[in-house]
Amino acid sequence: MRALGVDVGGSKLLACLADSEGRTLGRTVRETGRATGPEKACRLIVAAARELREAHGSFDVAGIGFPGQVDFPRGLVRASVMLDGWLDVALGARISEALGVPCVVDNDVNAAAVAELKQRDDDPPASMLFVSVGTGIGGAITLGPHLWRGHTGVAGEIGNTTIDRHGATCWCGRRGCLNTCASGSAMQNALGADVRLSAVTGSDHHRREDIIQAAATSLGIGIANALNLLNPALVVLGGGVSQLGPGWLEAVAAAARREAFPEAGQCRFELALAGYEAGATGAAWLALEMSGASA
Ligand SMILES: [Zn+2]
Repeated sequence: MRALGVDVGGSKLLACLADSEGRTLGRTVRETGRATGPEKACRLIVAAARELREAHGSFDVAGIGFPGQVDFPRGLVRASVMLDGWLDVALGARISEALGVPCVVDNDVNAAAVAELKQRDDDPPASMLFVSVGTGIGGAITLGPHLWRGHTGVAGEIGNTTIDRHGATCWCGRRGCLNTCASGSAMQNALGADVRLSAVTGSDHHRREDIIQAAATSLGIGIANALNLLNPALVVLGGGVSQLGPGWLEAVAAAARREAFPEAGQCRFELALAGYEAGATGAAWLALEMSGASA
């Protein structure tokens, strides 16, 4: 049993071919952008799948991680604040028909959280809050070996929880979401450069440190709210901004522990083990689980 896993992102689409153990056999990338609507995305996914098929052989199932609100049981993309033109798109059915294999669709951060759980098979967390901090902030909740998607599939959307009701306008149209003060794009807007660039010198160096600290504090407060609500055993921080490393993680954890009930703060904070391919490999895992090839 082999699976195609696709992570549809705001700037690129990453597709990988995985075996039944989740090992990546091959990968390919396509460029995307905010204007990547359903037609273009389907063309890119099918082209990437054909390339992998020709280079590495066939696959039996497909999984897609998508940056938006997804109705998982129906393979339906409800909407997206990252990509334009998506409203009630039957992405799973379209890709299944085009590729001739069953296809599941889930939120991209849910898919990444599944990859993270697989990385932690030796010591699985009883409950996990997974927070992906990149251009925007996404989240996922796991209980035992399973995702908790919520009543309509949007559980874990911590990036669009309000932290300042008088704050800046978010992509979702509301004010003061965590996205607006703690995401990679929020830090980039404040600094005028990618905050991961450590080569910034002089007074800009101090400004960069201040911006990172302020964003980490906001993220910690947002996570503290989630800790009081969910009381998870483990909080994992992933996504591109997590490349800031242990110092950033500690700043987020310190703020979260300061703001949460002491009992809720007694969880572990760790950086993600699954790397930048987590969304694609997690989507492949979801496809394998659907097929019954994986427990
Ligand atoms: Zn928002």
